[in-house]
Amino acid sequence: LTTITDEARIALDTLSGRATGLFSPSLRLGVTGLSRAGKTVFISALVHNLIHGGRLPLFEAQKSGRIARAFLEEQPDDAVPRFQYEDHIAALVNDRVWPDSTRAISELRLTIEYESASGWSRMFSSGKLSVDIVDYPGEWLLDLPLLGKSFTDFSREAIEMAALPVREDLSRAWRAISARIDPNADADEMTARRLAESFAAYLKACKLDERALSTLPPGRFLMPGDLEGSPALTFAPLAGLGDRRPPPGSLHAMMDRRYEAYKTHVVKPFFREHITRLDRQIVLIDAMQALNAGPGAMADLERAVTEILSCFRPGRSNFLTDFFSRRIDRILVAATKADHLHHESHDRLQAIVRRLADRAVARANFTGADVDVAAMAAVRATREGTVKQGRETLPVIIGTPIAGERINGETFDGKTETAIFPGDLPEKIDALFDISGPDHRQDSEDPAIRFVRFRPPKLERTAEGVTLSLPHIRLDRALQFLIGDHLA
Ligand code: GDP
Repeated sequence: LTTITDEARIALDTLSGRATGLFSPSLRLGVTGLSRAGKTVFISALVHNLIHGGRLPLFEAQKSGRIARAFLEEQPDDAVPRFQYEDHIAALVNDRVWPDSTRAISELRLTIEYESASGWSRMFSSGKLSVDIVDYPGEWLLDLPLLGKSFTDFSREAIEMAALPVREDLSRAWRAISARIDPNADADEMTARRLAESFAAYLKACKLDERALSTLPPGRFLMPGDLEGSPALTFAPLAGLGDRRPPPGSLHAMMDRRYEAYKTHVVKPFFREHITRLDRQIVLIDAMQALNAGPGAMADLERAVTEILSCFRPGRSNFLTDFFSRRIDRILVAATKADHLHHESHDRLQAIVRRLADRAVARANFTGADVDVAAMAAVRATREGTVKQGRETLPVIIGTPIAGERINGETFDGKTETAIFPGDLPEKIDALFDISGPDHRQDSEDPAIRFVRFRPPKLERTAEGVTLSLPHIRLDRALQFLIGDHLA
């Protein structure tokens, strides 16, 4: 009986809170993507633009003047590190350098005070929305399939992948060490460590390789967070396991136990405590890098997006169905860094992301949430101009390339503004996805897109000396899709 009364009381409190405006609804927004996709920059720019009343014409609540103010508040989860917004903004705005990238999970609460659009909503809503932004590495999501795999399955697959021609050279050192190991020998900490370190070095080498290879689990080997060096991360696949149970006290038994510990103590709690509580999700992708690297990398990116979307599909995996307490109803797949292209190519970039997301949705058999796509730049580091070349007028982008960046044999000093002809994205996008067809980049002597990294922009000041918020491309469109309806 007590429970019922308690529940009833909570329900009543909630209702009366709603009516008196005390209750402030919250929305949990997940921000993910593989490392360097642009998560840190996206969150920093989003918060900066909302707090400083940035130019957001496609964000309806802001455009119609209904947002009274937006400010940071204490986050609800004490055990999760705070997203270091102030440090990131200081780097971007004062030093004009890109902030430190995401290395683990973090959280930030942004509260928006607004006026509802209709009189009816005004009566029932508090006019306050807390957006809990949860930033986490996409690598961690890609661990979900491990939950359904035994140590033997995991070992077999990892060894098969490592021997594929694309990875064979990168995995050589680990495979050499691994080949000398007898899984039935006595467990030994130093052997375990040597194996784990060389396996992790191989996974990291795949990530850094210019072939832009897909990310392989375990995700914490690439992004350890605060678990670096812990036993749950000191394991590696073993060769020659067969189907026998591991002999007690053997290296095989030790690795098996640690693999299971990784699943129980690292993977499951992450999904249970963070992923299953999300309402909205943005998946950032570095489409520019993949386009530069060719169809193989595009296919790989598509595979990663497919796997990421599968993690948000409720009801397929038993583990998640047990724990989903909320349901993600909107997912945005967004390519950032569109400021590397002239605006004429933005729609093409969006069409490419649309194609990629559609194929991923189909392959992941994904239903249950609206999936939209965007081509955007959370921070716009360039402006546009034209350059006359002979009789032709070429559209260019102008920005300050980062010191040491090179193009056409020229090396930049990090101080000089430079005009760059970025090249066009191809009109026919099918070829970009066709691994068997000719590589579109070889159609001409030059690469299709000329890609240098620019420094963050210098912020403009108004006549009154007020510094304007960070410039962007279509950040407002992303915001409208992700939170706009909650401010209606
Ligand atoms: P994370 O690993 O997902 O947190 O990635 P970051 O947000 O740190 O972004 C990685 C790098 O991508 C940055 O250091 C920038 O060089 C670049 N970048 C990210 N977003 C943008 C953007 O909107 N415009 C431009 N020009 N570069 C960006």
